[in-house]
Amino acid sequence: MADSKRDYYEVLGVSKNASDDEIKKAYRQTAKKYHPDMNPGDKEAEAKFKEASEAYAILSDAEKRRQYDQFGHAAFEQGGGGAGGGFDFSGMDMGDIFGDIFGNIFGGGSRRSSNGPQKGANVRTGIRVSFEEAVFGTEKELELNLKEKCGTCGGSGAKPGTSTETCNKCGGKGQVVFTQQSLFGAVRNVQTCPDCRGTGKIIKEKCQDCYGSGYVTKRKKIQVTVPAGIDNGQSIRLRGKGEPGINGGEQGDLLVEVVISAHPIFQRDGYDIYSTAPMSFTQAALGGDVRISTVDGDILYTVKPGTPTDTKIRLRGKGVPSLRDRNSRGDHYVTLVVQVPTKLTAEQKELLQKFEATTKDPNEEPTEKSGKSKKKFFGK
Ligand SMILES: [Zn+2]
Ligand SMILES: [Zn+2]
Repeated sequence: MADSKRDYYEVLGVSKNASDDEIKKAYRQTAKKYHPDMNPGDKEAEAKFKEASEAYAILSDAEKRRQYDQFGHAAFEQGGGGAGGGFDFSGMDMGDIFGDIFGNIFGGGSRRSSNGPQKGANVRTGIRVSFEEAVFGTEKELELNLKEKCGTCGGSGAKPGTSTETCNKCGGKGQVVFTQQSLFGAVRNVQTCPDCRGTGKIIKEKCQDCYGSGYVTKRKKIQVTVPAGIDNGQSIRLRGKGEPGINGGEQGDLLVEVVISAHPIFQRDGYDIYSTAPMSFTQAALGGDVRISTVDGDILYTVKPGTPTDTKIRLRGKGVPSLRDRNSRGDHYVTLVVQVPTKLTAEQKELLQKFEATTKDPNEEPTEKSGKSKKKFFGK
């Protein structure tokens, strides 16, 4: 593949072992020289600015720089490299990079027209579900206040029958440009128009129902499908259920964070469930069927004679279904704990004493001490 891309170190004019500070300094100088706001309409400057920004984005990130050092540009090529192919900035917050380097003098580095369509804000809320509901999934109804387009004015914010006017200050663009003196010299700064707040329109007479905002808040009921296997702290995204978009932009999303109530018996770790189950000492000694609670209901588990306390067993496939595949489930780990009875009838005591007598070593002369440690265990 023909690689016409310049070396990132060359672009910034630094050596391969330049420090983070040197890279930052070099980028600041290059960006200042070629920034589109300083070179209006100069395509070559714009290209140079982009090239430098891309180089900086890679070299200022330790992990990306390591990859670049190892693989060159190939490290960031995303298959094909067809027309318009190039560096993908989408996963990167350029505002952060500019904020870091320039502070706010470039207006956050956003060159997006602010009166274009914008996606509405995401709305976050929470929902509480029981342990079992999280395991097997459920349907819930949420009630919350959500913004929607004002029905009276259709979202324009203008009183019905009146119209909006183009904003004089920004000429309808929603942005104003002004020149500011900064430590780099004169800088053209772009800001959201203060008069129309970026809409490009001025409302003469405001709609009484939304006070000119174009939106009203309404109490809404929303059905939420909680998928089987969801874990505490995970969010369910309901697309298009957030705030209305701006200037025809798509509606934001509703993000519902799931909070799972604690269960008296079960604990959860990922897709596995943990619990303890009691077994009587007779069951432990003689073996038998122990009743164990699972999320699928109680089961009888057969223990072998002589099963010690704290024996851990695994119930395969009795855990939580995977979010991706309901039929694939985690396991349930049970710790069997021998129960020592605290209340014994006279008859039970006698039986245990008889039992104890049969286990005694006939050669051993019972002393005060050994009697204490052995007899007390079965409760005298
Ligand atoms: Zn209205
Ligand atoms: Zn304006």
